[in-house]
Amino acid sequence: MLLIAFAYIFLILVLSTNVQFNFFVKSYNQNPHFPEKAVALSFDDGPVENTLEILKILDRYEVKAAFFCIGRNIKKHPEIFREIIKRGHIVGNHTYSHTRKMGFLRSKTILKEIKKCDEIAEKIGGVKMNLFRPPFGIINPKTKKALQKTGHKVIGWNIRPYDAITKSPEKILERIIKDLKKGDLILLHDNMPNTATILEQLLVILKQRNFSTVRADKLFDIHAYN
Ligand SMILES: [Zn+2]
Repeated sequence: MLLIAFAYIFLILVLSTNVQFNFFVKSYNQNPHFPEKAVALSFDDGPVENTLEILKILDRYEVKAAFFCIGRNIKKHPEIFREIIKRGHIVGNHTYSHTRKMGFLRSKTILKEIKKCDEIAEKIGGVKMNLFRPPFGIINPKTKKALQKTGHKVIGWNIRPYDAITKSPEKILERIIKDLKKGDLILLHDNMPNTATILEQLLVILKQRNFSTVRADKLFDIHAYN
């Protein structure tokens, strides 16, 4: 009996900490049926100073991406937030504080975290964000309850190179390109020091392999804003 209980708890933990399983909420992670040989790029945890360098590179390669922004960082860097939108990228909600306690929050607190980020984005960038990416990919019944109230669409990923914990740009790049296929959605972090280097090399490789890029909202045919 005890074993079954442990197995159950383990299963719930695994399912609730991995957005890809679509267990509690439908999330958009990849679209293999997309008609073109294209992949989508997404950047989490900004806006920060580094974001400007990322924007420059994306412009140079004429690539449009998705940025899932932390409310607190939008407040700190309003100009950079507006710059992301101005250059034709989309922005999405990544909560206000991105707290490490995300998995333990009550649904009321999660709701507050999401709403506060929305309000700041609207005030500073004039956008009503429709897309939400859960910090650490954590979706549990409490997150689900909060999202039922806010109505955001959940955007996950299917290519995660662990760029926030791996130091070597080569390793990160290798993880991205190893089995890359059309319709993939790549997760990167614009607050990591090596992201610009990785991005530049990635865009060269994508070109060599005849991959184009598509913005995440177009990949899934959904609206980024309300
Ligand atoms: Zn994050």
